[in-house]
Amino acid sequence: MIFLKIDISRIEKETGAYIDFYIEQNISPLDFQGEKIVFLKPFCVIGKAINVGEFITLRGTIKSAMELHCHRCLERFELCFSTDFNEEFPLNTKVIEGEIQEGIKDHIIDIRNLVENTVLLSLPMKRLCDENCKGLCERCGANLNKEQCSCVTEKIDPRLAVLKQLLQNENDED
Ligand SMILES: [Zn+2]
Ligand SMILES: [Zn+2]
Repeated sequence: MIFLKIDISRIEKETGAYIDFYIEQNISPLDFQGEKIVFLKPFCVIGKAINVGEFITLRGTIKSAMELHCHRCLERFELCFSTDFNEEFPLNTKVIEGEIQEGIKDHIIDIRNLVENTVLLSLPMKRLCDENCKGLCERCGANLNKEQCSCVTEKIDPRLAVLKQLLQNENDED
């Protein structure tokens, strides 16, 4: 079973028959809402194909890791994910001329689209490298997770700012 295809010839004649599948597959980067999503590990797709009479039901889990950009600090970070799917494919697809039918063809279910769409739909809306990510300085653009720029001191309580100024002067005199 390669290229995210599942051969169902063993179960398509018998209601109740099923096969377990496990597929490992490298996925090339996907474009999603103007962003290129890069996958750092092969996809692991584990599941069951069950003949339920009129349909083949596919149930399973997709696991991998992707590289995303943090919405606050714009740095890249790795996100491991595990997402479930549950989809039905009609056993008797009437092929309509000139129309691309997604489903079962020559005893094979191609689950590439199912897998890719499931993963993209599971992407978190708010992508943060860390819940406590400090983001970028609004003034100088410094990554505040990595460095503390001098602009930050201006946000300090004015009374503390005076104290800081005094300390600064003291240092300058040395
Ligand atoms: Zn971040
Ligand atoms: Zn700054």
